[in-house]
Amino acid sequence: MTGRLQGKTAFITAAGQGIGRATALAFASEGARVVASDINGQALAALEREARGISTMRLDVRDSAAVSAAAAAHGAPDILFNCAGFVHQGTILDCSEDNWDLSFDLNVKSMYRTIRAFLPAMMAAGRGSIINMASVVSSLKGVPSRVAYGATKAAVIGLTKAVAADTVAKGVRCNAIAPGTVDTPSLGERIRALGGDEAHNRSAFIARQPVGRLGTAEEIAAMAVYLASDEAAFVTGQAFIIDGGMAL
Ligand code: NAD
Repeated sequence: MTGRLQGKTAFITAAGQGIGRATALAFASEGARVVASDINGQALAALEREARGISTMRLDVRDSAAVSAAAAAHGAPDILFNCAGFVHQGTILDCSEDNWDLSFDLNVKSMYRTIRAFLPAMMAAGRGSIINMASVVSSLKGVPSRVAYGATKAAVIGLTKAVAADTVAKGVRCNAIAPGTVDTPSLGERIRALGGDEAHNRSAFIARQPVGRLGTAEEIAAMAVYLASDEAAFVTGQAFIIDGGMAL
């Protein structure tokens, strides 16, 4: 049986854990040849041991020269999945200029860097699917203590639509995924960092989803597989909410 991504190549950022990792495994199981990148070399080594079809490279998405070198080395991927991002916890009064700048650099400018680096070859090839990781916490929904995060993820949706408009006639599609709360290692860290009763903190994250649970990384990866595949050839410039009803 051939997979839905048979014969395609994929480049993924932040593939060491969480949604990026689950997506690397899902892409590989659908037949893609995957380059999984992350800043964490140990996490990548563990991933490479787990699946055939995945090669790894250490890449800091905040390093413009390294991103350009990665693109030069890998040519035109069929799929570019920009997954890197992090949560700054706090209101605008808790958010220093450094916090704000780091949030935009890691969550948004990283995508500016990778798209600028990979897009010329993708357009020259006349094909490709760019997938950007947004969040339902963005232009889609305001959430307490997520000011920098919500602003960056809204910017990701704007970036996605603008890139899609510029590339639609060149065979390249660009979409975003907007998840609700997903059970990943960094969510566990955020729950512990809040202090107090961990079970109580976890329940508060679960309560954000009317379906009554957290999402899984595999559920988000399934959306990425669809957007990467030829089944989504008519789909561009959209942000796909997958959130257990959080945005309702
Ligand atoms: P995670 O936060 O658990 O892991 C993030 C990965 O990013 C790690 O492997 C880390 O090493 C890597 N990373 C950090 N800085 C990097 C850098 N400078 N260069 C390259 N890699 C770097 O993963 P997650 O929770 O699945 O989140 C992945 C993406 O999904 C993020 O963009 C996040 O904002 C988004 N998202 C997550 C949730 C959620 O609830 N977990 C919800 C909506 C959106």
